[in-house]
Amino acid sequence: MLNLKKLRATPDRPQQIDESYESFAHESFSLEGRVIVRGEAVYRQNAIWVRLKIEATAVQACSRCLAPVVSAVRLDELLEFRPLHTVENPLATEVYFYDFEEPTLDLQSYVIGLIANSLAVKPLCRPDCKGLCPQCGQDLNVTTCDCVREAPGDPRFKVLEKLL
Ligand SMILES: [Zn+2]
Ligand SMILES: [Zn+2]
Repeated sequence: MLNLKKLRATPDRPQQIDESYESFAHESFSLEGRVIVRGEAVYRQNAIWVRLKIEATAVQACSRCLAPVVSAVRLDELLEFRPLHTVENPLATEVYFYDFEEPTLDLQSYVIGLIANSLAVKPLCRPDCKGLCPQCGQDLNVTTCDCVREAPGDPRFKVLEKLL
């Protein structure tokens, strides 16, 4: 939580950030243990510059077999917050916005967003994960099954296979 009142009262003077959050579950990942956030914020000409060093342990489900995939998240980010009304075309820039009227700024949702962006879209428990059988659902990394799987090849080769 940034104290915006205090930041604005002391322009150009950095304010230390040192906070941590409880573990929690997000839509596509969960965070184990505590999320540690350190850094500093400084107010300069209506903008707030926030340097964030984030440490967290993220757990995702393997996109093929659903086994847990654990990754250590280490991020070092610089965010620029500008008051909403000062940006003519918000979509044209990569800045964040803050409400000039609010006395504080809660960093947690931004931290979670940065972590979410840093994670793999299709995580794998290992590069050669065989995944689950689409028919019987068994984990093909630990067992084999007798289900017949359609080879995704060219249908013309299937005709050829029948002839041979
Ligand atoms: Zn897997
Ligand atoms: Zn099967």
